[in-house]
Amino acid sequence: MKNTTRIFSNHPESTWKGEVVWSPLKSLWFLANLLITLFIAPFYFSLSSLMVFLLLTGVTLCLGHSLGMHRLLIHRSYECPLWMEYVFVYLGVLVGMAGPIGMLKQHDLRDWAQRQTQCHAYLLHGSSILKDAWWQLNCDLRLTYPPTFTIEPRVIHSRFYQFIESTWPLQALLPALPLYLLGGLSWVIWGVCVRVVISVGGHWLVGYFAHNQGERTWFIEGAAVQGHNIRLAGFISMGEAWHNNHHAFPGSAMLGLHKNEPDPGWWVLNALHNLGVVKNLVLPEHLPAREELVVEANNLNSRVKRVPEECEIANFIKRYS
Ligand SMILES: [Zn+2]
Ligand SMILES: [Zn+2]
Repeated sequence: MKNTTRIFSNHPESTWKGEVVWSPLKSLWFLANLLITLFIAPFYFSLSSLMVFLLLTGVTLCLGHSLGMHRLLIHRSYECPLWMEYVFVYLGVLVGMAGPIGMLKQHDLRDWAQRQTQCHAYLLHGSSILKDAWWQLNCDLRLTYPPTFTIEPRVIHSRFYQFIESTWPLQALLPALPLYLLGGLSWVIWGVCVRVVISVGGHWLVGYFAHNQGERTWFIEGAAVQGHNIRLAGFISMGEAWHNNHHAFPGSAMLGLHKNEPDPGWWVLNALHNLGVVKNLVLPEHLPAREELVVEANNLNSRVKRVPEECEIANFIKRYS
Protein backbone atom coordinates (compact mmCIF):
# COMPACT_ATOMS: atom_id res chain seq x y z
CA MET A 1 0.00 0.00 0.00
CA LYS A 2 1.33 3.45 -0.98
CA ASN A 3 1.08 5.82 1.98
CA THR A 4 1.43 9.60 1.95
CA THR A 5 3.03 11.91 4.49
CA ARG A 6 -0.31 12.49 6.24
CA ILE A 7 -2.04 9.14 5.75
CA PHE A 8 -1.00 5.70 6.83
CA SER A 9 -2.67 2.32 6.59
CA ASN A 10 -1.50 -1.23 6.14
CA HIS A 11 -4.96 -2.77 6.00
CA PRO A 12 -5.64 -4.12 2.48
CA GLU A 13 -9.35 -3.19 2.61
CA SER A 14 -8.95 0.33 3.99
CA THR A 15 -9.48 2.17 0.68
CA TRP A 16 -12.66 0.46 -0.43
CA LYS A 17 -14.57 -1.23 2.38
CA GLY A 18 -17.20 0.98 3.97
CA GLU A 19 -20.72 2.37 3.74
CA VAL A 20 -22.14 5.67 2.59
CA VAL A 21 -24.22 7.33 5.30
CA TRP A 22 -26.43 10.42 5.25
CA SER A 23 -24.70 13.45 6.75
CA PRO A 24 -27.38 15.73 8.27
CA LEU A 25 -25.35 18.96 8.50
CA LYS A 26 -23.85 18.68 5.01
CA SER A 27 -27.18 17.69 3.45
CA LEU A 28 -29.44 20.23 5.16
CA TRP A 29 -26.93 23.02 4.54
CA PHE A 30 -26.80 22.29 0.80
CA LEU A 31 -30.52 21.54 0.35
CA ALA A 32 -31.63 24.67 2.22
CA ASN A 33 -29.41 26.83 0.02
CA LEU A 34 -30.63 24.92 -3.06
CA LEU A 35 -34.31 25.47 -2.22
CA ILE A 36 -33.74 29.19 -1.68
CA THR A 37 -31.80 29.37 -4.97
CA LEU A 38 -34.50 27.56 -6.97
CA PHE A 39 -37.65 29.05 -5.50
CA ILE A 40 -36.81 32.41 -3.93
CA ALA A 41 -33.69 33.80 -5.65
CA PRO A 42 -35.39 34.43 -9.06
CA PHE A 43 -37.82 36.88 -7.38
CA TYR A 44 -34.92 38.81 -5.83
CA PHE A 45 -32.82 39.11 -8.96
CA SER A 46 -31.26 42.48 -9.78
CA LEU A 47 -28.21 43.63 -11.67
CA SER A 48 -26.45 44.62 -8.44
CA SER A 49 -27.19 41.24 -6.80
CA LEU A 50 -25.75 39.50 -9.87
CA MET A 51 -22.58 41.61 -9.63
CA VAL A 52 -22.27 40.78 -5.91
CA PHE A 53 -22.71 37.08 -6.73
CA LEU A 54 -20.04 37.16 -9.47
CA LEU A 55 -17.53 39.15 -7.43
CA LEU A 56 -17.85 37.08 -4.25
CA THR A 57 -17.87 33.78 -6.17
CA GLY A 58 -14.69 34.77 -8.04
CA VAL A 59 -12.85 35.95 -4.93
CA THR A 60 -13.82 33.04 -2.66
CA LEU A 61 -13.15 30.37 -5.30
CA CYS A 62 -9.86 31.82 -6.54
CA LEU A 63 -8.17 33.23 -3.44
CA GLY A 64 -10.06 31.02 -0.98
CA HIS A 65 -10.71 27.57 -2.36
CA SER A 66 -7.99 27.25 -4.99
CA LEU A 67 -5.09 29.30 -3.59
CA GLY A 68 -5.85 29.07 0.14
CA MET A 69 -7.31 25.64 0.80
CA HIS A 70 -5.98 23.60 -2.09
CA ARG A 71 -2.64 24.93 -3.33
CA LEU A 72 -1.45 26.21 0.08
CA LEU A 73 -3.03 24.46 3.07
CA ILE A 74 -3.25 21.05 1.43
CA HIS A 75 -0.31 20.95 -1.00
CA ARG A 76 2.08 23.64 0.35
CA SER A 77 2.94 24.49 -3.24
CA TYR A 78 4.11 28.02 -2.34
CA GLU A 79 5.09 30.12 0.67
CA CYS A 80 3.49 33.35 1.87
CA PRO A 81 3.18 35.36 5.12
CA LEU A 82 1.02 33.73 7.81
CA TRP A 83 -1.56 36.55 7.73
CA MET A 84 -2.05 35.91 4.01
CA GLU A 85 -2.43 32.17 4.57
CA TYR A 86 -5.14 32.85 7.18
CA VAL A 87 -6.97 35.34 4.95
CA PHE A 88 -6.91 32.95 1.98
CA VAL A 89 -8.03 29.91 4.01
CA TYR A 90 -10.78 31.98 5.66
CA LEU A 91 -12.03 32.98 2.21
CA GLY A 92 -11.99 29.26 1.41
CA VAL A 93 -14.27 28.57 4.39
CA LEU A 94 -16.73 31.14 2.99
CA VAL A 95 -17.17 28.89 -0.08
CA GLY A 96 -19.39 26.81 2.21
CA MET A 97 -17.92 23.35 1.70
CA ALA A 98 -16.22 22.54 5.01
CA GLY A 99 -13.72 23.87 7.54
CA PRO A 100 -9.96 23.79 6.81
CA ILE A 101 -9.24 20.49 8.58
CA GLY A 102 -12.35 18.84 7.13
CA MET A 103 -11.31 19.95 3.63
CA LEU A 104 -7.77 18.69 4.14
CA LYS A 105 -8.98 15.29 5.34
CA GLN A 106 -11.54 14.88 2.54
CA HIS A 107 -9.00 15.85 -0.08
CA ASP A 108 -6.16 13.71 1.19
CA LEU A 109 -8.31 10.63 1.72
CA ARG A 110 -9.53 10.84 -1.87
CA ASP A 111 -6.10 11.60 -3.24
CA TRP A 112 -4.54 8.68 -1.39
CA ALA A 113 -7.33 6.19 -2.15
CA GLN A 114 -7.38 7.06 -5.86
CA ARG A 115 -3.70 6.15 -6.18
CA GLN A 116 -4.23 2.61 -4.86
CA THR A 117 -5.30 -0.25 -7.11
CA GLN A 118 -8.77 -0.49 -5.54
CA CYS A 119 -10.94 2.34 -4.21
CA HIS A 120 -14.55 2.82 -3.04
CA ALA A 121 -16.91 4.24 -5.71
CA TYR A 122 -17.61 7.21 -3.41
CA LEU A 123 -13.93 8.19 -3.45
CA LEU A 124 -13.51 7.94 -7.23
CA HIS A 125 -16.93 9.26 -8.37
CA GLY A 126 -17.61 5.84 -9.84
CA SER A 127 -21.44 5.75 -9.68
CA SER A 128 -24.13 7.18 -11.98
CA ILE A 129 -24.27 10.96 -11.98
CA LEU A 130 -27.49 11.14 -9.92
CA LYS A 131 -26.29 8.69 -7.30
CA ASP A 132 -22.96 10.49 -7.13
CA ALA A 133 -24.73 13.85 -6.64
CA TRP A 134 -26.72 12.43 -3.74
CA TRP A 135 -23.66 10.82 -2.20
CA GLN A 136 -21.21 13.71 -2.53
CA LEU A 137 -23.60 16.56 -1.65
CA ASN A 138 -25.56 14.83 1.12
CA CYS A 139 -23.58 11.89 2.50
CA ASP A 140 -20.23 10.83 3.93
CA LEU A 141 -18.27 7.62 3.48
CA ARG A 142 -17.76 5.64 6.68
CA LEU A 143 -14.75 3.39 6.06
CA THR A 144 -14.63 0.08 7.93
CA TYR A 145 -10.85 0.31 8.35
CA PRO A 146 -10.05 4.02 8.10
CA PRO A 147 -6.39 5.02 7.72
CA THR A 148 -4.67 7.10 10.37
CA PHE A 149 -4.22 10.83 9.74
CA THR A 150 -1.21 12.78 10.96
CA ILE A 151 -1.79 16.46 10.32
CA GLU A 152 1.18 18.76 10.76
CA PRO A 153 1.24 20.63 14.15
CA ARG A 154 1.21 24.09 12.51
CA VAL A 155 -2.26 23.29 11.21
CA ILE A 156 -3.82 21.00 13.79
CA HIS A 157 -2.57 23.08 16.77
CA SER A 158 -3.44 26.45 15.25
CA ARG A 159 -6.10 28.18 17.39
CA PHE A 160 -7.32 30.00 14.30
CA TYR A 161 -7.83 26.81 12.30
CA GLN A 162 -9.46 25.07 15.27
CA PHE A 163 -11.88 28.00 15.66
CA ILE A 164 -12.96 28.24 12.00
CA GLU A 165 -13.16 24.43 11.80
CA SER A 166 -15.67 24.22 14.65
CA THR A 167 -17.74 27.18 13.40
CA TRP A 168 -17.50 26.87 9.61
CA PRO A 169 -21.24 27.01 8.73
CA LEU A 170 -21.58 30.16 10.87
CA GLN A 171 -18.50 31.67 9.23
CA ALA A 172 -19.99 30.92 5.82
CA LEU A 173 -23.18 32.75 6.85
CA LEU A 174 -21.38 35.75 8.33
CA PRO A 175 -21.17 37.75 5.06
CA ALA A 176 -24.99 37.85 5.16
CA LEU A 177 -24.83 40.65 7.73
CA PRO A 178 -22.81 43.24 5.78
CA LEU A 179 -24.59 42.20 2.58
CA TYR A 180 -27.97 42.86 4.20
CA LEU A 181 -26.88 46.26 5.49
CA LEU A 182 -25.43 47.28 2.13
CA GLY A 183 -27.93 45.85 -0.34
CA GLY A 184 -30.86 44.23 1.48
CA LEU A 185 -32.24 40.72 1.14
CA SER A 186 -31.45 40.31 -2.57
CA TRP A 187 -27.72 40.75 -1.89
CA VAL A 188 -27.92 38.14 0.91
CA ILE A 189 -29.72 35.59 -1.27
CA TRP A 190 -27.43 36.03 -4.28
CA GLY A 191 -24.24 36.75 -2.33
CA VAL A 192 -24.60 33.77 0.03
CA CYS A 193 -27.23 31.16 -0.95
CA VAL A 194 -26.87 31.17 -4.75
CA ARG A 195 -23.09 31.46 -4.46
CA VAL A 196 -22.86 28.46 -2.08
CA VAL A 197 -25.03 26.32 -4.39
CA ILE A 198 -23.04 27.22 -7.53
CA SER A 199 -19.67 26.80 -5.76
CA VAL A 200 -20.41 23.55 -3.90
CA GLY A 201 -22.52 22.09 -6.74
CA GLY A 202 -19.93 23.18 -9.32
CA HIS A 203 -17.13 21.62 -7.28
CA TRP A 204 -18.97 18.32 -7.26
CA LEU A 205 -19.79 18.47 -11.00
CA VAL A 206 -16.17 19.21 -11.96
CA GLY A 207 -15.06 16.40 -9.60
CA TYR A 208 -17.51 13.98 -11.24
CA PHE A 209 -16.38 14.67 -14.82
CA ALA A 210 -12.71 15.04 -13.84
CA HIS A 211 -12.74 11.36 -12.78
CA ASN A 212 -14.94 10.02 -15.58
CA GLN A 213 -14.31 11.70 -18.94
CA GLY A 214 -12.24 14.40 -20.60
CA GLU A 215 -8.78 14.99 -22.01
CA ARG A 216 -5.71 13.28 -20.64
CA THR A 217 -2.05 14.09 -21.11
CA TRP A 218 -0.75 11.94 -18.30
CA PHE A 219 -1.44 8.42 -17.10
CA ILE A 220 -0.70 7.06 -13.62
CA GLU A 221 0.07 3.37 -13.85
CA GLY A 222 -1.58 1.18 -11.23
CA ALA A 223 -4.03 3.84 -10.00
CA ALA A 224 -7.70 2.98 -9.37
CA VAL A 225 -8.81 6.04 -11.39
CA GLN A 226 -7.28 8.63 -13.70
CA GLY A 227 -7.84 12.37 -13.57
CA HIS A 228 -9.15 14.20 -16.65
CA ASN A 229 -8.80 17.81 -17.79
CA ILE A 230 -12.23 19.46 -18.16
CA ARG A 231 -11.58 22.18 -20.74
CA LEU A 232 -15.03 23.80 -20.41
CA ALA A 233 -14.50 24.42 -16.70
CA GLY A 234 -10.79 25.32 -16.79
CA PHE A 235 -11.27 29.08 -16.51
CA ILE A 236 -14.36 29.28 -14.27
CA SER A 237 -12.94 26.74 -11.81
CA MET A 238 -9.92 29.06 -11.40
CA GLY A 239 -7.73 26.33 -12.92
CA GLU A 240 -8.90 23.50 -10.68
CA ALA A 241 -10.47 21.60 -13.59
CA TRP A 242 -7.04 20.74 -15.08
CA HIS A 243 -7.30 17.65 -12.93
CA ASN A 244 -5.31 15.29 -15.15
CA ASN A 245 -2.33 17.61 -14.62
CA HIS A 246 -3.05 17.65 -10.89
CA HIS A 247 -3.02 13.84 -10.65
CA ALA A 248 0.36 13.89 -12.42
CA PHE A 249 1.91 16.71 -10.34
CA PRO A 250 -0.09 17.06 -7.11
CA GLY A 251 2.48 19.34 -5.49
CA SER A 252 2.61 21.84 -8.37
CA ALA A 253 1.35 25.40 -7.78
CA MET A 254 0.59 25.57 -11.51
CA LEU A 255 -2.42 23.50 -12.64
CA GLY A 256 -2.85 24.65 -16.27
CA LEU A 257 0.47 23.50 -17.67
CA HIS A 258 0.04 24.46 -21.33
CA LYS A 259 -0.68 27.88 -22.79
CA ASN A 260 -4.13 26.72 -23.88
CA GLU A 261 -4.99 25.65 -20.32
CA PRO A 262 -6.08 28.91 -18.61
CA ASP A 263 -5.32 28.87 -14.89
CA PRO A 264 -6.53 32.09 -13.19
CA GLY A 265 -5.29 30.84 -9.80
CA TRP A 266 -1.78 30.58 -11.22
CA TRP A 267 -2.00 34.06 -12.80
CA VAL A 268 -2.80 35.56 -9.38
CA LEU A 269 -0.07 33.51 -7.70
CA ASN A 270 2.48 34.50 -10.33
CA ALA A 271 1.55 38.19 -9.91
CA LEU A 272 1.94 37.92 -6.12
CA HIS A 273 5.28 36.22 -6.70
CA ASN A 274 6.42 39.06 -8.97
CA LEU A 275 5.41 41.51 -6.25
CA GLY A 276 7.59 39.59 -3.80
CA VAL A 277 4.72 38.57 -1.47
CA VAL A 278 4.73 34.90 -2.44
CA LYS A 279 7.90 32.79 -2.52
CA ASN A 280 9.17 29.35 -3.50
CA LEU A 281 6.52 28.38 -6.04
CA VAL A 282 6.67 24.64 -6.65
CA LEU A 283 6.53 23.62 -10.34
CA PRO A 284 6.42 20.15 -11.92
CA GLU A 285 10.15 20.18 -12.64
CA HIS A 286 10.86 20.63 -8.93
CA LEU A 287 8.97 17.47 -7.98
CA PRO A 288 10.69 14.11 -7.70
CA ALA A 289 10.25 11.92 -10.79
CA ARG A 290 7.55 9.27 -10.44
CA GLU A 291 8.04 5.88 -11.99
CA GLU A 292 4.31 5.34 -12.42
CA LEU A 293 3.80 8.60 -14.36
CA VAL A 294 3.73 8.27 -18.18
CA VAL A 295 2.65 10.51 -21.05
CA GLU A 296 -0.43 9.19 -22.83
CA ALA A 297 0.72 7.80 -26.16
CA ASN A 298 -2.16 9.20 -28.23
CA ASN A 299 -1.57 12.71 -26.92
CA LEU A 300 2.17 12.60 -27.26
CA ASN A 301 2.56 13.43 -30.96
CA SER A 302 0.34 16.48 -30.99
CA ARG A 303 1.72 17.72 -27.70
CA VAL A 304 5.39 17.24 -28.33
CA LYS A 305 5.32 19.43 -31.45
CA ARG A 306 4.09 22.33 -29.36
CA VAL A 307 6.09 21.70 -26.27
CA PRO A 308 9.20 23.92 -26.62
CA GLU A 309 7.45 27.28 -26.99
CA GLU A 310 4.18 26.46 -25.26
CA CYS A 311 4.86 24.34 -22.28
CA GLU A 312 6.57 25.51 -19.13
CA ILE A 313 7.50 21.95 -18.33
CA ALA A 314 9.13 21.13 -21.64
CA ASN A 315 12.08 19.40 -20.07
CA PHE A 316 9.86 17.30 -17.90
CA ILE A 317 7.76 16.16 -20.84
CA LYS A 318 10.89 15.32 -22.80
CA ARG A 319 12.10 13.21 -19.94
CA TYR A 320 8.91 11.18 -20.08
CA SER A 321 8.43 10.99 -23.86
ZN1 LIG B 1 -8.66 13.24 -8.40
ZN1 LIG C 1 -5.03 18.29 -4.62
